[in-house]
Amino acid sequence: MRRPKILGLVLRNFAKRPATIQYPRVKTPIEEDSRGVQYADLTKCTGCTLCALECPADAITMTPIPQGYEVTAKNPRRIYPLIDYSKCVFCYRCVKVCPVNAYIVTSKYDIAGPTRISSEEYSLSTLKKVS
Ligand code: SF4
Ligand code: SF4
Repeated sequence: MRRPKILGLVLRNFAKRPATIQYPRVKTPIEEDSRGVQYADLTKCTGCTLCALECPADAITMTPIPQGYEVTAKNPRRIYPLIDYSKCVFCYRCVKVCPVNAYIVTSKYDIAGPTRISSEEYSLSTLKKVS
């Protein structure tokens, strides 16, 4: 490319806004119904394990609910689906198969980080603590 052509290109682009955004300083607009983090509401979950069995990515492990939480009588085994979001492909199969509609869905997507993130905190926050 000859120099005058490059100069013209530089001048043309100089006044244009950048095509990229400065994520994460600038948030990316997302659709409201986009598939973000999902987690089980443990006031509804019966610990049936169906979502874990149906997960195609093997991202759900049925896990004991720690002591110190009020657990409903509907969940006598005191277990809940712990989702490893680093394995999850956000297909929402778990959401669809749950017989009691226990899953809460969100548009939260910015979960990447240095530590492995799971649904533990989200799900346990749906339960009352024993006083
Ligand atoms: S959204 Fe899909 S991959 Fe993720 S935990 Fe649910 S069933 Fe598994
Ligand atoms: S399918 Fe629903 S009720 Fe069964 S373990 Fe999963 S979240 Fe709980």
